[in-house]
Amino acid sequence: MIRVRFAPSPTGLLHVGNVRTGLFAWFFARQKNGAYILRIEDTDRERSRSEYEDQIFQDLRWLGIDWDEGPDVGGPRGPYRQSERFPIYKEYALRLIQSGHAFWCFCSEEQLEIQAEQIKAENLNWKYPGTCRGLPKDVADSRLNAGDPAVVRLKVREGHIRFHDVVHGAMEFSSDVISEPILLRSDGSPTYNYAVVIDDALMEITHVIRGDDHLSNTPKQVLIYEALGRPLPEFAHLSTILGPDHTRLSKRHGATAVAHFRGAGYLPEALMNYIALLGWSPTSEGSEVIPPADLVQHFRLDRVNKSPAVFDVNKLNFINRHYMKSNPAVPRLVLDELEKTGWIPSTDRETWLALVLDTVLASVDTISEVPAALDNVLGFPLENTTDIRETLDDPGAIDLIRRFAAEMQGKAQLTFDDYRVIVNRLKDATKRKGRQLFHPLRVALTGKSSGPELDKLIPLIETGARLRIKDVLGCKDRVQAFLARYGSAGPAMGYSKS
Ligand code: GLU
Repeated sequence: MIRVRFAPSPTGLLHVGNVRTGLFAWFFARQKNGAYILRIEDTDRERSRSEYEDQIFQDLRWLGIDWDEGPDVGGPRGPYRQSERFPIYKEYALRLIQSGHAFWCFCSEEQLEIQAEQIKAENLNWKYPGTCRGLPKDVADSRLNAGDPAVVRLKVREGHIRFHDVVHGAMEFSSDVISEPILLRSDGSPTYNYAVVIDDALMEITHVIRGDDHLSNTPKQVLIYEALGRPLPEFAHLSTILGPDHTRLSKRHGATAVAHFRGAGYLPEALMNYIALLGWSPTSEGSEVIPPADLVQHFRLDRVNKSPAVFDVNKLNFINRHYMKSNPAVPRLVLDELEKTGWIPSTDRETWLALVLDTVLASVDTISEVPAALDNVLGFPLENTTDIRETLDDPGAIDLIRRFAAEMQGKAQLTFDDYRVIVNRLKDATKRKGRQLFHPLRVALTGKSSGPELDKLIPLIETGARLRIKDVLGCKDRVQAFLARYGSAGPAMGYSKS
């Protein structure tokens, strides 16, 4: 049975890079009907925080990733938090010493550092000189009994270290360059390379999928598997993710944490779909919009690209816009956003919501942009109208707007049907059509030269005004205010041509 793990460290928010690892591992596990194991690598006691761990669970669940074994759900090969496995690490270290694969090392860090400095000064690569490798057992025991601090080191065998990587192919390293690695520190804590191998071996992980920053750790890990007498898993080291400037993706590039994307109103399936395309692509040409269930089916670990992937927020936005059209939860999410910002009336919410969705959803990248988009669409910036020169310079346009205002006299509001009737009448009376007809009306109704179709906008404006949301002005008031400012005196007054 395929067993795949995701092993994040709870030292910060889950970001695009590590969640991509978790996601690829999950696609692979689910596709193969294998087990997906979540292991929390919290041996760095200073930097690990339980809040981050909780956030990891939340972020993964939000994305739609589930796990069969893990710290919160348990499982037969736990515990699944490294901080709870210290006795296991110790037991196996002692076994490795007993079997002659590891040894106690009493060299102090300071001692080794001095040596290392000297070697580096000669431009040579330092490696542990093997000082304690051959220490007789009774000497080591008596020093331990005397309370001398000691670490456990692995004996590195001679020869080449080979392993297969699904992404990078056959890998080979010479053990000459490998310093005998510490397994347990003098305080009893395990090093990363050791803990990860003990856990992967005991949890019977068949595929180790992780970032390629760990590729250089793998030879040491292979030696630890050998020393334990355990079979090697398959390795798959995923490429780095770069920002648009082709440097490693980081906070400098803007939002990179899953929690940020969630907060910014992206849909989980859109983020999952987009992240899946970072270093992988479907075999067949065609849409890159691939829903989660299809991703699980189509994903191929052996098609993962070894060159770095570049994060492109425009593509993420494109994919998010696509899912916004079909996700049935969108109206509810939009309503929540509107509620936060006062863009929701106390009555007739459904009518309002339907109009908002119909008018502004197509113009935003994420749901959280809806309130700002409404601010923009329904705002009437008469004091600083810009970009309306064309209308003001055209006396025919001002005349058209005056006629429009006159047609509205005696009506409490502009219904959509009234609007159609009026527009047709103005068309006949002025012989204007198309942009010549509609652009001045848009400018008078919105104070702006662009925005959603008037057919959609007018019901939105009128409903907003009727429901008294955020002092939205109705169409009639808008046109009158426009004419009061620009209409009576003609193009040159109240408007500078500079
Ligand atoms: N905790 C390690 C990390 O977050 C995982 C390494 C591994 O998967 O082996 O980088």
